[in-house]
Amino acid sequence: MTNKKRINVTKTFMPSQDEYQQILKTSWNKNWITNRGELVVELEQKIKKKYDLKEIILTTNGTLPLQIAIKALEIKGEIITTPFSYVATTSSIVWEGCTPVFVDIEPDYFTIDPTKIEKKITSKTTAIIATHVFGNPCDVELIEMIAKKHKLKVIYDAAHCYGVSYKDQSLFNYGDVSTCSFHATKIFHTGEGGALFTKNKEIFNKLYYHHNFGHNGPNKFHGLGINAKMSELQAAMGLTILPYFDNLLTKKKQLYKLYLERLEGNLIFQRIREGTIYNYSYFPVVFSNESQLLKVEKSLNKENIFPRRYFYPSLNKLPYVKEVSVPISESLSSRIMCLPLYFDLTKEDVFIICDIINKNNN
Ligand SMILES: *Cc1c(COP(=O)(O)O)cnc(C)c1O
Repeated sequence: MTNKKRINVTKTFMPSQDEYQQILKTSWNKNWITNRGELVVELEQKIKKKYDLKEIILTTNGTLPLQIAIKALEIKGEIITTPFSYVATTSSIVWEGCTPVFVDIEPDYFTIDPTKIEKKITSKTTAIIATHVFGNPCDVELIEMIAKKHKLKVIYDAAHCYGVSYKDQSLFNYGDVSTCSFHATKIFHTGEGGALFTKNKEIFNKLYYHHNFGHNGPNKFHGLGINAKMSELQAAMGLTILPYFDNLLTKKKQLYKLYLERLEGNLIFQRIREGTIYNYSYFPVVFSNESQLLKVEKSLNKENIFPRRYFYPSLNKLPYVKEVSVPISESLSSRIMCLPLYFDLTKEDVFIICDIINKNNN
């Protein structure tokens, strides 16, 4: 079997342009395209209602929410964090003038290993920022226990978690603050976009003013702020896609199961934590070593198929952090890649990809 069309790790879902225009009419008619217009408010209400969330603030991307959360929670000094995530998790910590302290990950779940957190806590530690990797929940119970005991704040980078629930509630409900990304490559998107979530009204008020220049009305200020507002154009994209979301997820779930069946026995897969209703947004596979991964990647590329090495390198290798040893994360980073997974990938595409992998992974 050979493949002609280009297959990337993901493909942005583009809704019908007519439907997008229809929703945008609201904004045109009112001459109102940003500053908390009707569409942003509508998208917030719909997401809040669907996932039974207390407070939500839509933002212009998924990185500023991390930085705003650090500011709003008045986090200083050292932050315990995971080395296995997208660069934004670490860069936000450094950008806010704090020091990332890397704790290794759980080998099966790929999320931060809470049993290794306490050893890294010092008098300067003020918070934990962990990522629900590929939408797989961290060990939130144990993290919460440790955080309470040591009076640490908890922020979850839940960039991959739209649609995920854990123990009968949205994963966004965990931690002092959770953040999400609605970037075009994510399972639900607004082009660029993101969100902040919290259950605490006081924290919400701070997050809110921080994301809007610190404003307290037109002429007064609560304090320091930045601009992270979502525009009406972004919200319109979200509102157009929202009705399709459940179908997109179902489609991805079918392809995910197909991959599992076809690759069983040949590779290692991420273990999804018990109690999770998953969103199937990524299909990561782990090889026995890096040269095996590179060999398979090359054979896929030859057939016009482009998986991505998420996440590589391990974030403790970034040029602006103090390098420490986190062997599980480093080993996983060198051996993992995400296979193509998107709404109109076909069964036949998956068969071709699996055949190439099975033939070359030996
Ligand atoms: C995508 C992503 C981000 C950043 O989101 P943007 O919307 O691109 O700014 C942060 N953390 C993780 C884990 C991500 O995958």
